[in-house]
Amino acid sequence: MSKPQTAITPTRAEDFPEWYQQVIKAADMAENSETRGCMVIKPWGYGIWELIQQQLDRRFKETGHQNAYFPLLIPLSYLEKEAEHAEGFATECAVVTHHRLETVKDEETGKTKMIPTGELAEPYVIRPTSETIIGAAFSRWIQSYRDLPLLINQWANVMRWEMRPRLFLRTAEFLWQEGHTAHETADEAIEETRMIHRLYADFLRDHLAIPVIPGEKTENERFPGADITLTVEAMVQDKKAIQAGTSHYLGTNFSSAQDITFTGREGTVEHAHTTSWGVSTRMIGTLVMAHSDDDGLVLPPRVATQQIVIIPVTPKEDTREAVLESCHALADTLRNDLDFHGEKLRVHVDDRDVKGKKWEWVKKGAPIRIEIGPRDVESRKVCMSRRDRPSNDKEFLDKEEFIQRAPDILNEIHDTLLHRATEFRDANIADCTDLDAFHAHWSQDNPGWLMTPWAGSPEEEDELSKKHKITIRCLPLDQQEGDEAACILTGKPTKQRALWGRSY
Ligand code: AMP
Repeated sequence: MSKPQTAITPTRAEDFPEWYQQVIKAADMAENSETRGCMVIKPWGYGIWELIQQQLDRRFKETGHQNAYFPLLIPLSYLEKEAEHAEGFATECAVVTHHRLETVKDEETGKTKMIPTGELAEPYVIRPTSETIIGAAFSRWIQSYRDLPLLINQWANVMRWEMRPRLFLRTAEFLWQEGHTAHETADEAIEETRMIHRLYADFLRDHLAIPVIPGEKTENERFPGADITLTVEAMVQDKKAIQAGTSHYLGTNFSSAQDITFTGREGTVEHAHTTSWGVSTRMIGTLVMAHSDDDGLVLPPRVATQQIVIIPVTPKEDTREAVLESCHALADTLRNDLDFHGEKLRVHVDDRDVKGKKWEWVKKGAPIRIEIGPRDVESRKVCMSRRDRPSNDKEFLDKEEFIQRAPDILNEIHDTLLHRATEFRDANIADCTDLDAFHAHWSQDNPGWLMTPWAGSPEEEDELSKKHKITIRCLPLDQQEGDEAACILTGKPTKQRALWGRSY
């Protein structure tokens, strides 16, 4: 049998990492730039980020947070104050050491060269994350328990000198939000860490149609300087894990290093308990890998740059005007009269005079495509295709019926994507209590995840991780009080379960 024609080559089954690059290229979302490890995000991809940003920002504000902005460059001395944190980021920091360029003319070639001069007395680190510089501001802003809690978020770019970059999932410069909060008590700060963790899990499920496993990182995988790191872990279609967001309880580690103190209710001077939490443009890579197919990108409707694309079909010049008019009128009605999760519908009429428009929108992942030709104008019908169905499926609907149902159809598409991703994930997580079976599992191609009883030490975890190129993705929160079982490695009785997998 000949292979079915797909819009993307290679297919997911043939070469998943290359398929991923090709989906991004075909959807015109982003490209690698000449700056090492950095990407150019193109309008179709940046539109997704803007929507993620707007929708998350609303949730942060609803939960009492305010936005602020802090410098890109961090004095080296700030990092030196918190040794564990600084060491954790030491191998991936870009450092600014000069503040001037001198123009020098090469005598032989006649070419002009620019040479950095004006060495700085104290170098600056381009923020890999902003705990230290925000902490310095917090120490000035916080005097009394009345100044707490302080709930701040920053939308920014950060830089981590990643050795193996991959578009969206791991880039040297990336866009993110970083929340930083300070609290009177440990309990309050831990509750903030958990609340944001739940908010991330809900956001991924309700906006990106990605089911995640919420859990705690082991000591080995914790954020440098954190007492607790909570994570949301997503499984993508090659069964690898992606850490889609993290929320850290920092105890008084940063407040001690940076002198974030306040006068408490009893008049004593105390250290604030701080948290930090972030999600990044990695979420876009995660949604590409979670939902897309061999015909290209599949966008969850809530973050689709355009949700409905209307393609006029104009075979004859004499009916062309009527078709275009009907398409634009439909778009206006959809935009003006309908509401989807509190936002206006995003509708685009593609009236360009080019061939192959349908496939462009398939590859760009538009959730609904509508085609209208001269006969449809007369019969008041539309021809609808949904991106959650095979690319050649079509359905004819009365125009009025489509207008009424459009938001419901978008919700159905969201539900289908979420349902598929959840079924796939659940089919690829197995319980494992036998060490030989555990070792054997990881020699398979694309092995799924394993859940095991776990009471090993950080060193024992590290040994297993290195041996099989796996990590404990998390200690799932809903599994921490399971039945007592023997730890898969040590045999010690434990209630704790660990979820192991390969990751991006
Ligand atoms: P962290 O501050 O290390 O906890 O990172 C917060 C979140 O940013 C992580 O959970 C990731 O989702 C994301 N992230 C970390 N490193 C990168 C990177 N190099 N590129 C894109 N996103 C990243």
